[in-house]
Amino acid sequence: MIKIAVAKGDGIGPEIMDATLQIFNAAKVPLEYHIVEMGKWVFDKGFNNGMTPEAQQTIENLGILFKGPMETPKGKGVKSVNVTARKTWNTYANKRTFQTLYGVNTVFSQAGIPIDITIVRENIEDTYGGVEHMLTHDVALSRRFITRPGSLQVIKYAFEMAKKKQAKRITCGHKANIMKITDGLFLDVFYEVAKDYPELKADDVIVDDLCMKLVTRPDLFDVVVLTNLQGDIVSDLCAGLVGGLGFAPSANIGDHISIFEAVHGTAPDIAGKNIANPTALLLSGIGMLRHLGLMESAAMIENALLYTLESGIHTGDFGDKNIPPVNTTIFTQAIINNFEKLPSHNPKPLLNNQKITPTLFKLNQNAMMESVTQQDEKIVGVDMFIESNEQPQDIAKKCLRHAGVKFKLINISNRGTQVWPTGSVYTNLVNQFNVRFESLEEEPLNQQDVIGLYVSLSGNFKICSLELLNQLGDKKAYSLAQGQ
Ligand code: NAD
Repeated sequence: MIKIAVAKGDGIGPEIMDATLQIFNAAKVPLEYHIVEMGKWVFDKGFNNGMTPEAQQTIENLGILFKGPMETPKGKGVKSVNVTARKTWNTYANKRTFQTLYGVNTVFSQAGIPIDITIVRENIEDTYGGVEHMLTHDVALSRRFITRPGSLQVIKYAFEMAKKKQAKRITCGHKANIMKITDGLFLDVFYEVAKDYPELKADDVIVDDLCMKLVTRPDLFDVVVLTNLQGDIVSDLCAGLVGGLGFAPSANIGDHISIFEAVHGTAPDIAGKNIANPTALLLSGIGMLRHLGLMESAAMIENALLYTLESGIHTGDFGDKNIPPVNTTIFTQAIINNFEKLPSHNPKPLLNNQKITPTLFKLNQNAMMESVTQQDEKIVGVDMFIESNEQPQDIAKKCLRHAGVKFKLINISNRGTQVWPTGSVYTNLVNQFNVRFESLEEEPLNQQDVIGLYVSLSGNFKICSLELLNQLGDKKAYSLAQGQ
């Protein structure tokens, strides 16, 4: 028996989790369930991260969490338990699979265009760090972290998974044409890792073009890897291609702990009515069985589910309108009755179970993930983000006085567009400017030089934030303003 932690969740969570475990039990899946306390009702009991300390301990001991959807209490300033769980336990790869399900009518199934796409979304970084500030009463800033070690983890996982599933193609979706440093780093890491997998066709597509191509020729894609926010949006788009969120399973993979859940939420509008569709959670559970090496049970249950869908049995949220819907209990029983049956489309081969060596390990300190490539690093300037509602030339006049003997004023930009020394009066301004100073004669600077400039400049302006301009090796490690 393999022990796993189970959290039933809120809303329809308990109904669809019970349905899924009933199917697992009927299939004699060798799992032992440890029910843990997580969700809205745990917030309500006063636990601010939505889980009890015992739940956290159990999940950290067992390494696998199978969870139903959970509600985030509104307006209490608490963070989503779903996001907290994924980030706390470093489940860096969010794998979502989208396949044509016969019996679930979509424009593509009707047109005979098969879909089998796996999205791997980076799960920790990007704007999901939620590090946000109001810099002035008009200007909000979100920090977007893309790191080399974080990108390496998720991209290596994507390539390894693509190799195992004998994918025909692996694609990186990105916006590196605009976000040259952040998305550029992710894309560079993608091609670095690709070198170790010459057997896989690796390519990249700009994310907007990717969306267009996915809705016109989804059959051309196989595995797609993206940063967090872009991956979130693209994976919901893919859910739409195969019939909606009710058919979208999800796995959050980490080195130590992995979390399996449906993509949809708690569906409060239908909770407690026994009409919810358990398919997405069941598909997530099937993914979990494969992750644990339980290939035989996974294939038998998936074949029974596919056969049931093909036969036209459906809950109220999908399916043939001419066939009356059934409730969750009858849908669940129908799947159990169809064990040993094979669907006519895409039957899953009954592979032997694999012995998976558990990756559970005890940690006594946080792992520092540091890139092995160390480069010469020097400070060559600073961006001072100041609050002002003056005209650019007036700001420049004041700033020039502060440059002193170490700095020269390079340019001033507003929302990333250069407004001094050249620019256009047609550029609308907000009350925050980025004033860029670089070192005179390209002499390296130290932090004291920057603090000196800060103190001097603060005589004229409120400095909302500052960012050092670094040079790594011979490369300037900062973006240029539009028009610079
Ligand atoms: P939702 O996914 O719960 O519901 C959207 C619509 O889809 C509703 O009409 C609902 O009835 C329907 N639906 C969803 N799942 C269904 C199923 N299995 N069977 C039949 N119909 C289904 O999205 P929402 O209403 O935006 O969110 C409700 C709550 O869920 C919020 O508190 C949100 O924070 C939470 N949420 C949790 C997760 C998670 O736990 N991973 C994910 C998304 C949303």
